[in-house]
Amino acid sequence: MDNQTFIREMFSEFYNKNIDRVEIPKSIESREFGFTLFKESTMIRHKGFMRAEDLKEFIKKIVPSNVYYSSAYYSMPEAKMDEKGWLGSDLFFDIDADHIPTECNKQHDMWICRVCGLKGRGVPPTICPRCGNLGFDEKGNIIGYRQETWPCEICLETTRMETIKLIDILTSDLGFSISEIRCAFSGHRGYHVQIEIDEVLKLDSMARKEIIDYVTGTGIDARFHGLEEISHSGARILVGPGLHDFGWRGRIARGTYEFLLKATAKDLRGLGLRKEVVENLLANRDMILESWKASGPWNMIKGLGLRGWEKIVQRGIQFQSAKVDTVVTVDIHRLIRLPGTLHGKTGLLKISFPASEIETFDPLKEAVAFKGGEARVYVEESPEFRIGEEVFGPFKEQTVNLPISAAVFLACKDAGKVISYNV
Ligand SMILES: [Zn+2]
Ligand SMILES: [Zn+2]
Repeated sequence: MDNQTFIREMFSEFYNKNIDRVEIPKSIESREFGFTLFKESTMIRHKGFMRAEDLKEFIKKIVPSNVYYSSAYYSMPEAKMDEKGWLGSDLFFDIDADHIPTECNKQHDMWICRVCGLKGRGVPPTICPRCGNLGFDEKGNIIGYRQETWPCEICLETTRMETIKLIDILTSDLGFSISEIRCAFSGHRGYHVQIEIDEVLKLDSMARKEIIDYVTGTGIDARFHGLEEISHSGARILVGPGLHDFGWRGRIARGTYEFLLKATAKDLRGLGLRKEVVENLLANRDMILESWKASGPWNMIKGLGLRGWEKIVQRGIQFQSAKVDTVVTVDIHRLIRLPGTLHGKTGLLKISFPASEIETFDPLKEAVAFKGGEARVYVEESPEFRIGEEVFGPFKEQTVNLPISAAVFLACKDAGKVISYNV
């Protein structure tokens, strides 16, 4: 049996038994839907549904490998793109491990040259070192390699922490209430954050870009956030933001605190700071951290002036910014994965939940779609992975018995071959 047939059978069974888990978006009649199938490579787009039942029947009938819907509302969702009549769009953020360089990527992410089959780990090279095949197109999209990426615990925890930062900025600084924010685990390696209130619907791409710049801390000049040189009793002294200040002032202070707490001599030298200044910073670390209780360390380090602090602050901003995929938020015609449907690369569900639950959310537990059943699988190669409470692997060229959920996961990853199964 080929993997595709197995996965499709499992997906079909899931949708037949659990079609009511599919979440129906607000104003379904104004949304565009898109589907990918198992056999054909083209996407079915520009579909519209007047009623929830029609969408559910359609999913059961075609058994898609992925289901998407538009974050936008249209007067005619089935029309051609420029004739749909855009009415507005939810405010949508995507946080994905693909865009966040984690150390573990090197261990579990593999690229395979489409021409010669050479394999390697981590970020793929510009051209294949064996056959010279071009790796990327001019936009930076990977074209020369097939990629195998894995949702590991570190990647998932990293994206969860970024999501927490984003929610904090949206609520503390931008005035959204936590109850207006909906979160979702994407079913693969990240999270989605969505706001559907009337106030955001009409925002154009430029306005959304400004929100992105704010949450990512792009273009922040610390001198406009309280870091400055002033005259004090005839002397020039430095002042700067405090830990409890509002908005980016406080974030700059907290990020700087965080950076200086962990910074090594190498990190500080990397900023272009002089050797004596670096030694001064490291020798006085305890005093610096203590100083935040009062007016901060801005004036404490001999030889460290406005210029030097600006460099340190930029690193602090990186700690505090939320690493969202900027392209997704700005695109007001974006198709996004429908919550309650299966992800074709994992067999896990996209699961939505209130933003207030992000602190305790466990994606690999909540997103498990298949319960019960067992399969015999030949695994070519797989790193360790967890589904629910159980940890599997690592496997290499071996035949193992696995629960259906783990077998679907490996089959979706194309990391093995299902020999037999019973559900
Ligand atoms: Zn090659
Ligand atoms: Zn990882």
